[in-house]
Amino acid sequence: MDRRRRRCKILATLGPASNDEASIEKLWRAGADVFRINMSHANPEAMRETVAMIRSVEEKVGRPIGVLVDLQGPKLRVGTFAGGGVDLFVGQKFTFDSDPTPGDASRVCLPHPEILSALAPGHKLLIDDGKLRLHVVQAEGDHAIAKVDVGGRISNRKGVSLPDTEIAVAALTDKDRVDLEAALETGVDWVALSFVQRAKDVLEVKRIAGDRAKVLAKIEKPQAISRLDEIMVAADALMVARGDLGVEMPLEKVPGLQKRITREGRRLGRPVVVATQMLESMISAPAPTRAEVSDVATAVFEGGDAIMLSAESASGKYPFESVTMMNRIAEEVEQEIVYRSIIAAQRSVPEQTGADAVAVAARDMAETLDLKAIVAWTSSGATALRVARERPRAPILALTPIRDTARRLTPVWGVESVITKDAHDVDDMADRACKFAVRLGLASPGDRILIIAGVPFGTPGATNMLRLAFIAEDGKHAQ
Ligand code: PEP
Repeated sequence: MDRRRRRCKILATLGPASNDEASIEKLWRAGADVFRINMSHANPEAMRETVAMIRSVEEKVGRPIGVLVDLQGPKLRVGTFAGGGVDLFVGQKFTFDSDPTPGDASRVCLPHPEILSALAPGHKLLIDDGKLRLHVVQAEGDHAIAKVDVGGRISNRKGVSLPDTEIAVAALTDKDRVDLEAALETGVDWVALSFVQRAKDVLEVKRIAGDRAKVLAKIEKPQAISRLDEIMVAADALMVARGDLGVEMPLEKVPGLQKRITREGRRLGRPVVVATQMLESMISAPAPTRAEVSDVATAVFEGGDAIMLSAESASGKYPFESVTMMNRIAEEVEQEIVYRSIIAAQRSVPEQTGADAVAVAARDMAETLDLKAIVAWTSSGATALRVARERPRAPILALTPIRDTARRLTPVWGVESVITKDAHDVDDMADRACKFAVRLGLASPGDRILIIAGVPFGTPGATNMLRLAFIAEDGKHAQ
């Protein structure tokens, strides 16, 4: 059975450069643990076809593969222009209104009435990923007059970011609702919600998803930063979406926020994905810059659960080389002498639960006895998540009878999953833990492993057992 030699996971976005079965398999073999389908560039039919290809690769390689569908969210855009676009100059005034007729040098439609009514004097309008900047000088409810601070060309349907405006729009657009339902019907493992502003946005998607998928909140707006605590508690995982975050907030704030979100995510036991421009130059070059290598390394040193590729794997010239490079960086960082001390320094106090007490004890025992693996029997995945939160030195092997659980654990730090039927007693549990630890190359006969579980089996949240097992010559546990 194939397994990874690193704890930090890799998410690869699929797109025109990689959206076929052979490429998906090649990306997986290069190190991609989870595939991301970006609904900004896909419709439900294309999404279903991609998921079918991923599942076919999963079947072939015999390991669980994660699928994350990233909903577009309420991305705001201006309307169109009579001539396709106009140049805006510093100091000039420019109006955003609700008139759908094509714009000109003095105005354009902003087809979101709820935004026009929420704008207030002083609010910034950032166009085209922040290339153009304006601020509102007069807000009239159905239109707003803005003054240009940084000029440039504004053209048809360019994106608009409003870092100062509390947007009353629903977190899910009509397209998102259709895409979400299609993704849930298709059986994807994770759904990512874009432009989250408040915990309520996340809770609404969680309510719709129920137990059909886990929900990841993309942190990319100042409004989310100001409510980080409630959002992190509400979500199943977080993404530091540095693309939009770096447009809506001063760029120099992004690294600090990345560290805060990564650490807080670990404290809460919520996986954190660090995303965007990680190996940006590899979109067109076969090797990254030193700074990009350092950026990927920083996320790994920080103990982030996963690192993500966007255009590098979706539309770049070197998708496989990008995944290979990320894999190499992560493997190397995790072997670095200072890695363990950095990871250990960020340990936080456990919660007063049986699961955390067992997870902490498992980490300590594995370190004291230099055990080869911590094997967690888990039905919901919660036990494996709590062990991952401890960032143990030993690899974590999650054994679960539930295929969805195995797939949903793919973005989690250090967890390798195997689907196997529930053990019928404690000896069977130990035998199978030993067998799979050997089969995955984590341990050999003569080694010892640690097994944790909730007994009776299949009772979520009942982690209450910890057992040391010696692997006998036949690969079973010694009595
Ligand atoms: C981001 O903004 O960093 C991000 C991941 O979102 P998207 O790629 O959907 O813009």
